[in-house]
Amino acid sequence: MPSVSTAEITAKVRELCIAAAYELPEDAVRALRQAIQKEESPQGRAIFEELLRNAEVAASERIPYCQDTGLAVLFVKKGPGVTIEGGTLTAAIAEGVRQGYTDGYLRASVVADPAFDRKNTKDNTPPIIHMEESVEDVLEITLVPKGAGSENMSRLVMLPPSAGWEGIKKEVVETVRKAGANPCPPIVVGVGIGGNFEHVAYLAKKALVRELGKPSPDPKTAALEQELLEAVNKTGIGPQGLGGTVTALAVHIETFPTHIASLPMAVNLGCHAYRHKTAVLLGGESHG
Ligand code: SF4
Repeated sequence: MPSVSTAEITAKVRELCIAAAYELPEDAVRALRQAIQKEESPQGRAIFEELLRNAEVAASERIPYCQDTGLAVLFVKKGPGVTIEGGTLTAAIAEGVRQGYTDGYLRASVVADPAFDRKNTKDNTPPIIHMEESVEDVLEITLVPKGAGSENMSRLVMLPPSAGWEGIKKEVVETVRKAGANPCPPIVVGVGIGGNFEHVAYLAKKALVRELGKPSPDPKTAALEQELLEAVNKTGIGPQGLGGTVTALAVHIETFPTHIASLPMAVNLGCHAYRHKTAVLLGGESHG
C-alpha cells in the first residue's frame, strides 16, 4: 500500500509556502505580459510593467511578491489506498505552514478568536484545508495563499432561480464595481454557481486554483466566462483602480447541480498576486 510520511508532507508544504510567496507562477506572469498588449491606458501599461518587475525582484532577491502573504488555503487530492505514516495529514500540513511562514520570514496574518481579542497566532496557522478524494493512488497538495484585500470584497448570494444567467451576471459585475481598487486589480474573478450555501463558496475558491486564463473544459461555461470577462472589463476600473481597459485578467466559473428552488452563486475575487503552487508527493511529478 503506498504511503507518505508526515515528515515528507511537512517539508513539502514548508517549501510550497516559501516558493508561493517569492515566485509569481508562470501563468500569472504570462497573463500580466498579455495584459500590456490589451491595456489602452498608458498608466495602466506602466502598472503592468511595474508588477512584472516586482515579480522579477521578488524571485531574484527571495522576498515576498506582496507583503500580505495570505491565509494558507490548501487543496489536497488523496487516493483511497494512500496511507499517512507518523500522524495525521492535517497536522503535518499545519506544521509545514508553521515552518514555511516562520523560516521564510512571511507575514503571520492569522488571528485567533476573530470576534474578540484577535490575538495573532504568530505562525500563520491554522491553515484552511479542502480534501478531495481521488480514484488513483495520488497525494497532491496545492497551496493558495489568499490575501485579505481581495478576499474581503467577495460575495455570496442565494438568487431565486428566475434570476437566471442575467441575474448572475449582474451580481458578478456589481461585486467587481463595488470592490473598485480594494482587491488590487488586475483581478481574477472566481465564480461558483450551484450546489448549496456552503458548497458554492468552495466552488468560487476552487475556480481560483485553475491555471490563469485556462477556459472551462465545458464550452458553454467557457463562453460565459468570456462574456463575464468582457462585462467586468467594461467597468473601466483598470489596473490598481486607476482606470483602464483591463480590470480582470480572467473569469473562471465552476458549477455544480443545485436544488430546484435554488440558484446559489458566489464570487471570490483574486488579486494580481495570483499565487498557487502544487506538489505531487505520490503518483506523478511536482509542478508549480
Ligand atoms: S489583495 Fe493581493 S496584492 Fe493586494 S495586498 Fe492583498 S495579497 Fe497583496
